Amino acid sequence: MKLLFIGPPGAGKGTQAARVADRLGIPHISTGDMFRHHVSTETDLGLLVDSIMKAGEYVPDEITVEMLRERVAEPDAAGGYILDGFPRTAGQVAALDGLLGEDGLDSVVVFDVDEDALVERLLGRGRADDTEDTIRNRFKVYEEQTAPLLGIYGERGLLVHVDGIGEMEEITDRILSALSTQNSEPTTDNS
Ligand code: ADP
Repeated sequence: MKLLFIGPPGAGKGTQAARVADRLGIPHISTGDMFRHHVSTETDLGLLVDSIMKAGEYVPDEITVEMLRERVAEPDAAGGYILDGFPRTAGQVAALDGLLGEDGLDSVVVFDVDEDALVERLLGRGRADDTEDTIRNRFKVYEEQTAPLLGIYGERGLLVHVDGIGEMEEITDRILSALSTQNSEPTTDNS
């Protein structure tokens, strides 16, 4: 099963992607985690992306796509995976279509979360790119570049909306049950 998790910064998609991947026995592939690992181990790529991430901007598609392409070619990804934070731009959607074909993804899980709750959550998280200015810019970039992806995947009937507010365990169960419902009946979701 190949899944994609999309949501605004702080929606909890990373946490849930890890939990759902664990329950399904497939790898969780987070481009944000991969970049953070490069930054903390000070690789050439890490040195390049550090300031971009601190500004809340997106890393250029060529770099991100190449990193992702190598990751999904690894043996543990052969039986499927959850993509978290990729694709995030129309260019990345096209690149993923090139890798998987247009019908390569099974479902796209979308986190619906109230914006005030998100800002509060992010400020409490204390990550290096979680200063107030960066958070504000990440929201802006998400709205401009990533929210339009919902239109593309909506047209393909892949969207599964999940309410992202609640207890961590409860949300994981919500996602798993939404996925099993979606995969057991033909979908007409165009939202
Ligand atoms: P969040 O969803 O909280 O913004 P992520 O861990 O997904 O956090 O991403 C953190 C940062 O890593 C992004 O703000 C961006 O700079 C970079 N990044 C992650 N994934 C991508 C991507 N697919 N394309 C471009 N930049 C990315």
